[in-house]
Amino acid sequence: MASVPEHVLMNEALIEDLQKVAKDTALLHGVLMRTKETPNSSEVVSYAPFTLFPSPVPRSLFEQARQVQTHFNLLVDRISQDAEFLEQALASTIKVDDFTARLFNIYRQVIQEGCSQPIVLGLNRSDYMLDLGKDGNTSLKQIEINTIAASFGGITSRTPDVHRHILKVAGRVEEQKKILDNNPAAGFAEAIAKAWELYSSERAVVMFLVEDVQQNIYDHRFVENELWSRDGKEVAIVYFRNGYMPQNYTEQGWEARLMMERSRAVKCPDISTHLAGTKKVQQELSQPGVLERFFPDDPKAVAQIRATFAGLYSLDMGEEGDRTVAMAIANPDHFVLKPQREGGGNNIYGEDICQVLDSVKENLERSAYILMDKIRPQPVRNYLLRSGSPLKLSTCLSELGMFGAYVRQGKGMVLNECTGHLLRTKSAEHSDGGVAAGVAVLDNPLLI
Ligand code: ADP
Ligand code: MG
Repeated sequence: MASVPEHVLMNEALIEDLQKVAKDTALLHGVLMRTKETPNSSEVVSYAPFTLFPSPVPRSLFEQARQVQTHFNLLVDRISQDAEFLEQALASTIKVDDFTARLFNIYRQVIQEGCSQPIVLGLNRSDYMLDLGKDGNTSLKQIEINTIAASFGGITSRTPDVHRHILKVAGRVEEQKKILDNNPAAGFAEAIAKAWELYSSERAVVMFLVEDVQQNIYDHRFVENELWSRDGKEVAIVYFRNGYMPQNYTEQGWEARLMMERSRAVKCPDISTHLAGTKKVQQELSQPGVLERFFPDDPKAVAQIRATFAGLYSLDMGEEGDRTVAMAIANPDHFVLKPQREGGGNNIYGEDICQVLDSVKENLERSAYILMDKIRPQPVRNYLLRSGSPLKLSTCLSELGMFGAYVRQGKGMVLNECTGHLLRTKSAEHSDGGVAAGVAVLDNPLLI
């Protein structure tokens, strides 16, 4: 069912030619990444990994994902303002998950001290897979929503032209039209600029909090220089592109996070929005009646959001959690076991689910996880181009992301948009992992 016919995929001479053209075109268009070998230098760079061909995505499901995005923006924002909900949803998790607990402590402290900044800036990405049901129908199912450091909104804007060119060289001119223009980063920048404007201090800067590439920890000197030094600049907005994994923090890093939360700066995300993106909150949202709490007057929004939910199950202590454990152990291949982590490579699959659950099922530890139905997309065949890897025809699975941006000032929504999309494709032999984790590659939807 690949959009590219098998005889094209198997034409070795053509593929050999196309991959050379593809790599050069990627370089020409700025689909770039620094290399693993020299991650802190731009002397030698390479193309970011990408698929040779765009992958088919049904237009109706693409539209569904696009249209539900502004509802997800509102949902995340409303969760972030609902202290009672966050307390209750994460109560069991923070007993056993140290990382979430530390974030939550910061949250409690800033709540107690009172809100210091009425401007809220949210930049997120909701990820989906297209589940192929037993009845042969495909449906849009959310994998997760990323409320912190949602990435690839910039580089993906350069990939449509690359795929269009490849299709042209491959003689598939008609299909070029089925690839959309896409520039999520432009919408992100618009939202950042809007929040900056509302902050209304012309001298103030936007601070990008980035990774220390060597260690993925806070760059102490950066924080020091930007926030502590006497001749430092006023920070209007802190844009986190880091801080979503335990490894990102040292003790000093935790102090810096607290300091930023307490500051007047607009945080993207603020701590409550960060917590709204946890997998435990995702699971709680799937419980009956919970979405209605956030959209009391909008049953349509509730229905649109709920339609994208896969089965999500609590592992909290008690009968419901016991049932989840039994169900998972009886049929591990039907589920994914997820801890409260981001960044790819943390989820548990197959027989490993039984092992992990066997070891934690009798104690509180199990509430560090949630269980989710495994989504099974229709595999497609494609070539994954990655610097240094040999060319190989792979059976692939795709994940569609929609970028959301919003700005709120006090009670009023100032901006609420879907700013674009991201298609990532990986070889089906990998259960987990994103582009940064070295598993998935950039792709474009070929709308069918
Ligand atoms: P992370 O925060 O690490 O990105 P995700 O929940 O997005 O965590 O999972 C990482 C990857 O695991 C996804 O990109 C997807 O490839 C795979 N995955 C996650 N959940 C499911 C699921 N329910 N069914 C199938 N694959 C999944
Ligand atoms: Mg993910």
